[in-house]
Amino acid sequence: MAVELYLSENAFIGLLVSTIEVYRRECYGILLGHSTPDRVFVDFAVPYQTANRKFREVHIDWKRSARVEEAVRGSTRWELVGDFHSHAMYGPVRASTQLSREDEENFADNSVAMVVAINDIQRPKRWAYRPGGVIAGAINGYSIQIAAYAKKSSQIDKAPIICPYAVGFMGRRRPLPRAG
Ligand SMILES: [Zn+2]
Repeated sequence: MAVELYLSENAFIGLLVSTIEVYRRECYGILLGHSTPDRVFVDFAVPYQTANRKFREVHIDWKRSARVEEAVRGSTRWELVGDFHSHAMYGPVRASTQLSREDEENFADNSVAMVVAINDIQRPKRWAYRPGGVIAGAINGYSIQIAAYAKKSSQIDKAPIICPYAVGFMGRRRPLPRAG
């Protein structure tokens, strides 16, 4: 059975802000929350302030990642449930939420990975669930797609995202600051 990923309002906004802030570069960060065998609850998406961001791929400092994991375990009631990064439109090449080979190689077992694809868009689009449990919509001239994956026993599967807040997002018209 596929692991379902419950995305909180906080985490949804965190993913959007992190992704838009660094566009057209890519962001990277950690997901805090809690999990049961078939559900992962993502309460917060915390970007790495000092991630070495470049245009095509984000290079991850795994020693720092371990340090962060220890800090989270020692100081909060949240678990480190996984990580996230964005895929940004690069020239004419539109970004997708597909995991790259490098993403798959760096995917830790028993964790989730979220990928936010960001592209330029001409017109507004309502937030909605898409096939495969992807959520997609638009904000301030950017098209956003968010997908989640879970890795168990070395196998990577799509994890359908459940985020009622996102789907009501357009109706609320709460603007986020546009990246300069
Ligand atoms: Zn990637």
